[in-house]
Amino acid sequence: MGWISTYEGLPHTTVKSFTISQQAGDWYISCSYEIEPQIREKEFDYVGVDLGIKELAILSTGLVFSNPKALKNAQNQLTRLQRELQRKEKGSNRRNRQRLRISKAHRRVSNIRKDATHKATSYICKNHAVIGIEDLNASGMMSNHKLAGAVADSNFYEFKRQISYKALRYGSDVVLVDRWFPSTQLCSCCEHKKPMNLSQRIYSCDRCGSVLDRDFNAALNIENYARRAFAVPGHAPDNRSHAPVEVSIEIDVISCLGFE
Ligand SMILES: [Zn+2]
Repeated sequence: MGWISTYEGLPHTTVKSFTISQQAGDWYISCSYEIEPQIREKEFDYVGVDLGIKELAILSTGLVFSNPKALKNAQNQLTRLQRELQRKEKGSNRRNRQRLRISKAHRRVSNIRKDATHKATSYICKNHAVIGIEDLNASGMMSNHKLAGAVADSNFYEFKRQISYKALRYGSDVVLVDRWFPSTQLCSCCEHKKPMNLSQRIYSCDRCGSVLDRDFNAALNIENYARRAFAVPGHAPDNRSHAPVEVSIEIDVISCLGFE
């Protein structure tokens, strides 16, 4: 292939592996390498992260990461392209070209989602020493048809994966909250428990009178869970091994010559 120019500089290190792949008509090189963790001072000791359906993530510090608007637009475009495909004659060149357009649109949706997730997880891992996050059973939620689209969109699995490796990179600890922990049903002030159905967006406590946004209340409960996990000796997970962390990056080689 010869030399390839990259838009962003690469780290001066030995690459462990290369993977070359083709997606939607374009070529990619993905390489993985080891880097030294960048342990840094954190602004916050604890944070609870509630992964939303409406929002990307809500933090117990009050910060909200919204789903990007571009995602919705790209999805509308995808729906339109799909409809147009139905009208193209089977086996025709027009139909093949339309297929390529659709896969490019799919890739765009996935890139927008990935970008938003990367921004949120980097911020969380750089600025918080202990991160509580729900160990969501995403596949279980996927089987519920009403939720499926929204859940796939919110990218739960990818979010958790990024938090895990970035926590190693920046020296944070991750507490995975038990999937049966009733984070939405508890009052984050007094721990009173009451049933909450999906349509209830506000948690109002019958015992202490607290009134909180549903997801923010859940994030606070997750933070409390993480604090308790650290209060029990021997239960604190320790990610701070200071060992090199393996990361992988993807390089776009659209302009690469000689590949057909
Ligand atoms: Zn209460």
